[in-house]
Amino acid sequence: MSAGTATHAPPSRDTGDAAYTDGTGTFHPLERRLVAGHTLAGETVISVDACVIGSGAGGAPVAKELAEGGMSVAILEAGDWHESSTFTARPRDMMARLYRDAGQLVTVGVPPIPLPLGRAVGGTTLINSGTCFRTPPAILARWRDEFGLHELTPQAMDPFFRRVEREVNVSRVPAHLAGSSARLVLEGAAKLGLSGGHLFRNAKGCVGSGVCAFGCPTGAKQHTGVTYIPRAWAAGATTYTGVRAQRIVHHGGRVTDVVARSAAGGTLRVRCTHAIVACGTLLTPHLLSASGAGGASGQLGRNLSIHPASAARAVFDEDLDPWTGVPQSAYIDALQDEGIMFEGISGPPDQAAISTPRSGAGHRELMLAARRTASFGVMVHDTGRGTVRRHLGQTVIRYDLHRDDAARFQRGMAVLADVFFAAGAREVIVPLAGVPTLTGGDTAPLTGAHIRPRHVSAMAFHPLGTARAGTDPAQSVVDADLRVHGIDGLYVSDGSVVPSSLGVNPQITIMALATRLAYHLLGQAPPEHEPVPTAIA
Ligand SMILES: Cc1cc2nc3c(=O)[nH]c(=O)nc-3n(C[C@H](O)[C@H](O)[C@H](O)COP(=O)(O)OP(=O)(O)OC[C@H]3O[C@@H](n4cnc5c(N)ncnc54)[C@H](O)[C@@H]3O)c2cc1C
Ligand code: SF4
Repeated sequence: MSAGTATHAPPSRDTGDAAYTDGTGTFHPLERRLVAGHTLAGETVISVDACVIGSGAGGAPVAKELAEGGMSVAILEAGDWHESSTFTARPRDMMARLYRDAGQLVTVGVPPIPLPLGRAVGGTTLINSGTCFRTPPAILARWRDEFGLHELTPQAMDPFFRRVEREVNVSRVPAHLAGSSARLVLEGAAKLGLSGGHLFRNAKGCVGSGVCAFGCPTGAKQHTGVTYIPRAWAAGATTYTGVRAQRIVHHGGRVTDVVARSAAGGTLRVRCTHAIVACGTLLTPHLLSASGAGGASGQLGRNLSIHPASAARAVFDEDLDPWTGVPQSAYIDALQDEGIMFEGISGPPDQAAISTPRSGAGHRELMLAARRTASFGVMVHDTGRGTVRRHLGQTVIRYDLHRDDAARFQRGMAVLADVFFAAGAREVIVPLAGVPTLTGGDTAPLTGAHIRPRHVSAMAFHPLGTARAGTDPAQSVVDADLRVHGIDGLYVSDGSVVPSSLGVNPQITIMALATRLAYHLLGQAPPEHEPVPTAIA
């Protein structure tokens, strides 16, 4: 090698078909450093540099980066470790196994909105659709202006995005795996001049089995349990599963211990200098508040955005078999400036049966047409804000859909109906109460309807903001480095710190902020040599 300093342009990273199927090679550590909570009776005491609570999008990246940076790390996870090979692809079995409360968390408000969460090693990334978007630059600009997060520029975040995208193998869905709903919707959108395309996802070796939300049976989806966690193990971190953190102990403004309850009824006490709370937007406020932390501003548990979503379906003449292919594989972003994003969604027939509107004979008729039915989602960048609190041992989520957001759903559904009709749909069914089945390309019964929040049938998958970041301690829970105001060594790394609704799916934002936090704690400069993707999500 020649002496002197050589400068190399970072290699570019393929995001085409090859990257989607080959990726960077699945990583298998020599040792699985897993301790199951049902083996921990009595009191167990361990000492580490960093205790990370939660193994989802926010927890796993910070644990892996800290372990690789030389810290001793314990990861506490309330859920269990699951082998991909045990996943049955049946929603009824998998929701009970992999979802918190079997997927039955629902907001209290108008309308009630189901808000499912994962509970396992991998957190909600284990049961998500795998769609990947970087934080939109306009959102980062808003955070700089409104919350004083001046360092969060697209340029400063770029090395962290690149690193995350490489770790979880982000690449664009190839057309042959995208499924029939995506094909028809993109055809219809093109006819109407609406911009869109195939989504970016974290998958490798995907065969389009269509059940991402119920645990990927092939292990193709690159959730944090098969990416970051094994890397963390290889660097010496240990994951304690079936272990629920109950409180964080701090004295004199400094963290000393995390105290957790094991599935065997024992106590795990983790002595640490850094405690990183990554329980997710709906559970982190409870742990902080039970620990007497983060409550000074009165913002803890408030400012909840959920990015509500709904789906229209359309019946065609041809057989589509909508359950084959990647369920969420395409998007239309033509209305993003209005806060409306369209993303594909489909699932196995039993899930379709649950989510199909209508009842009795109407439901039967729609199910008989299931093979010929396409569906697609509308997501709304919400104006409304909710709260989360604990009551009688339960998580209570208060959220009312804002009437402006109901109007966005009406507008989005009308555009989607036009798209379906342009693609040749015979009829379109929208989940807005009082709107009849649309036929013959006529959307007037929808556009002329008086839609109020109570008429909207929605779900939500992207809760954010309940321990938001900001430089003003009176308006935020954590500072720009995600440290809980006033307590040294206590950090939050999950969706709760994201200070506003993103308008896009959040996992890459959460993982990139987690990676940035780890580099900050290690005192390292941002990673410089991550490969440049050939296209950006
Ligand atoms: C069906 C579905 C589809 C989705 N699709 C997408 C998508 O396509 N793209 C995208 O970007 N996002 C998607 N999301 C959202 C995305 O997965 C989440 O935003 C992200 O995983 C949140 O990361 P987090 O770290 O905040 O929480 P989580 O990933 O939920 O991780 C929190 C973890 O902490 C654990 N935990 C909680 N309390 C404790 C405690 N006291 N002690 C120990 N452990 C605890 C939980 O069991 C959980 O495993 C989807 C979500 C759902 C439900
Ligand atoms: S479509 Fe099937 S194979 Fe592909 S990531 Fe989803 S569950 Fe896995």
